Amino acid sequence: MNPLEAQLSYPFGDALPAPGAVREIVPGLGWLRMPLPFALDHINLWVLRDEREGRSGWSVIDCGVASDATRAAWEQALTGPLQGLPVVRVIATHCHPDHVGLSGWLCARFGAPFWLTTGEFGFARMMAAALPGVDGPSAIPHFERHGLVDQDMLEQMRSRRNYYPSLVPSVPDAYTRLQDGQHVTIGNTGWRVITGFGHSPEHASLYSEALNILVSGDMVLPRISTNVSVFAVEPEGNPLQQYLDSLDKFAGLPDDVLVLPSHGKPFRGLHTRIQQLREHHVARLDEVLEACKTPRSAVDIVPIMFRRQLDAHQLSFALGEALAHLHKLWNDGMLKRVTGVDGIIRFQLN
Ligand SMILES: [Zn+2]
Repeated sequence: MNPLEAQLSYPFGDALPAPGAVREIVPGLGWLRMPLPFALDHINLWVLRDEREGRSGWSVIDCGVASDATRAAWEQALTGPLQGLPVVRVIATHCHPDHVGLSGWLCARFGAPFWLTTGEFGFARMMAAALPGVDGPSAIPHFERHGLVDQDMLEQMRSRRNYYPSLVPSVPDAYTRLQDGQHVTIGNTGWRVITGFGHSPEHASLYSEALNILVSGDMVLPRISTNVSVFAVEPEGNPLQQYLDSLDKFAGLPDDVLVLPSHGKPFRGLHTRIQQLREHHVARLDEVLEACKTPRSAVDIVPIMFRRQLDAHQLSFALGEALAHLHKLWNDGMLKRVTGVDGIIRFQLN
């Protein structure tokens, strides 16, 4: 456990639910942990006892990626700990593949409605269809403009055309809208939607005052910092500012709220963790500003922020993250943006 994590408390200890098992958080709310084929090797899903239109079963929050391993774990959970009861509603916090991958499969199988925000539904549909602008190849000119000249890396990124559709083969073609501040009743418990920005288009976290539980999705994670990236589809975006502003929306929650994050373990210490995340970004912003005493592209910034070897998948996230920090400083008027004769965008002190 790193020193920052030691400032949080993990009421469930180190025991993790095995694939296909469900760990009870409180009566009627269970924790599933599904495998992921990445360095980040798992996602947490939540199941809540529910009754909708006379059908008794489960509302599930997030789905896992479409893989044989995740489908097998779902089968095991559904017939075992979930008592053969149907999924009566699928809720997604946001559009990333680990969250909506099996949404089409689960909704079709149980005739369940799909609940998420309009922003996330739209992006999930766009990316599952690999529309130009959000598909793998669209990232190439974006990264070239920001200094990526390594042809081998570019080739590897080009070949990631089917990255999203391979993990999300189908997204339901209709949805029920979640909106900021909306109250959603699941079983006999009320939950409030808290939208967040910067990580994804319109992320929904869910807070239950009665249970004192926050389903934080990817907006607040105990161990890793949430990815905040500038992507090709929104090249002038300022997602780090949006993310930091969104963290303010959790300020009114009780200090002892139990946080159920999408990655890592359930924890208490929400406000401590948010303060750690703020300090993390302030430190990164200081490093980036210091480096920009001489003009720097986003590619120049990556090794300053990430001091390890990165593969193509990791590099695409690292570049997006470096740009997010550069764009905040640019929007704050600390940096200016200059396009060189080589066509590469560089940032320097204003
Ligand atoms: Zn995410």
